[in-house]
Amino acid sequence: MTKRIFLSTITVVVSVLLLSLALITGVLYEHFQKIQMDQLEVTEEFVEQGITLDGMDYLKNLNENDCRITWIAADGTVLYDNRFDASQMENHKNREEVKQAMEGSAGTSFRQSTTVSERTMYYAKRMQDHTVLRLSVSQSSVLFLLGGMLSPICFILLAACILSGVLSYRVSKKIVHPLSELDLKHPEQVETYDELSPFLQRIAAQNREIEHRVRELKKQQQEFSMITENMSEGLFVVDRNYQILSYNKSAVQIFGIENEPIGQNLLAVNRSQAFREAVDSAFQGRHTQKNLTLNGRVYQIIANSVCSPDSEQELVGAVLLVLDITEKEEQERYRREFTANVSHELKTPLTSISGIAEIIRNGIVRPEDIPHFAGKIYDESQRLITLIGDIIKLSQLDEDQVPLERESVDLLEISRDVVQQLSSVAKKNGVSLVAGGTHGSVYGVRQVLSEMVYNLCENAVKYNQKGGRVSVDVKQSDAAITLTVKDTGIGIPKAEQSRVFERFYRVDKSHSKAVGGTGLGLSIVKHGAALHHAAIELNSEVGEGTEIKLIFPVKR
Ligand code: ADP
Repeated sequence: MTKRIFLSTITVVVSVLLLSLALITGVLYEHFQKIQMDQLEVTEEFVEQGITLDGMDYLKNLNENDCRITWIAADGTVLYDNRFDASQMENHKNREEVKQAMEGSAGTSFRQSTTVSERTMYYAKRMQDHTVLRLSVSQSSVLFLLGGMLSPICFILLAACILSGVLSYRVSKKIVHPLSELDLKHPEQVETYDELSPFLQRIAAQNREIEHRVRELKKQQQEFSMITENMSEGLFVVDRNYQILSYNKSAVQIFGIENEPIGQNLLAVNRSQAFREAVDSAFQGRHTQKNLTLNGRVYQIIANSVCSPDSEQELVGAVLLVLDITEKEEQERYRREFTANVSHELKTPLTSISGIAEIIRNGIVRPEDIPHFAGKIYDESQRLITLIGDIIKLSQLDEDQVPLERESVDLLEISRDVVQQLSSVAKKNGVSLVAGGTHGSVYGVRQVLSEMVYNLCENAVKYNQKGGRVSVDVKQSDAAITLTVKDTGIGIPKAEQSRVFERFYRVDKSHSKAVGGTGLGLSIVKHGAALHHAAIELNSEVGEGTEIKLIFPVKR
């Protein structure tokens, strides 16, 4: 900065100096030249008068050293010259000033001398006898004059340089100092010269703008982090080189990433083909969904490309969303199995009904056998009705379509009702069935609770032996109300215990069918328990009996 100011100052100073010098020299030179010409004119007047009076004698006696006097005849022959020998001099009629004088007017001319430093000024005038009197004087040339002034000019220039240097240093210091001391965070607090104020105000305004933008960005970043960190889905954002730019906690957990993923290659996160295919197709601009099994769970990978905001053609990266769809997949599988099972379960009694009806239609059956076949049709139809009833109940529970009219339901009361309903079946099977305990009330759907207790008691009676016992017990503690159905029946093998709550699962299919089971009873119990947030406990020993507990939490 100092150098620039110095150069500018010195350029201005030198230019002004030289221009002034040229102007002054020019003006003065002109002025002195005019004075000299006037003097020549006056001198010529005197000499002319002298020649008129005394002729050549006057000239010869004249002692004039300042100027050169030349007397020229009308034909141009030099008659006299006070500096040179006239007889040796050439004819002068072609000299500019002489020519002019011969034509009648005073002639003037300037000619460069043999040396560059001088030039000669001529003044010639025709006298009355038509001879020409010429006077000339040497004067210094402008360059010579300037040359003469060289040392003062150099001195002035040197002084100008020094002054400019000092001035530039001080000025630049004054300009630069506030800038170097500037606190860019608080530019308004700096005391400075007026010219800098708009600049500082602008910085302050820009600072405010930047702060505002940073705040906005931070807010957006926090919102984004809050959303992504609380997402159960995994998220990855990658650049066009597959390098991870952003991720969330769930993504790290799903893929069990141990090192910091930022900057890592996304394909290193999972080496499976499905994952690679999903990522690759996103980079080919396609929206892709792929399923991936990881640690026994099923994940859906949704990959999308990200384009530049300026051009939709330019791919700048990709976003990967990883969803845990294990439950959804399982439900799908259950649904498929359920549909297949339902079709199968419905087909068996219907085939039997249709077969019996056909034999009767063909008249093959003897009249006395018809009640037997009619009884079979009735039994199969009852099985169908029970089955369809169970399917409807289960579907309602499945689809959350149970009329949710909740009320306070006394479990002991319900148990007693169920015991009442099943008393004849129990009697027929030679099983004793009793209900007891305390009046524990559950806030729930009466119909569903009743169905659950009924199914448990019915199973306890069905899968029992002659002389066996079934007891229903209701207990209330501070934390829960527990309903226990205990029997002394055939029991459930340990290996089957976890599966008996599955739809259509039966330990012994023929036994279940023989006792009129549909394979849906315990499924309905499981769904009913879930509806009431109740836990189920199953304890069973083959040959000894089974105990199933429904534990309802007490709401406070
Ligand atoms: P089902 O209609 O066949 O009884 P459930 O879903 O009610 O269907 O029960 C499933 C299977 O669990 C039954 O087929 C039976 O084998 C077994 N089971 C259920 N309860 C008992 C019990 N109290 N004692 C022995 N086995 C039982």
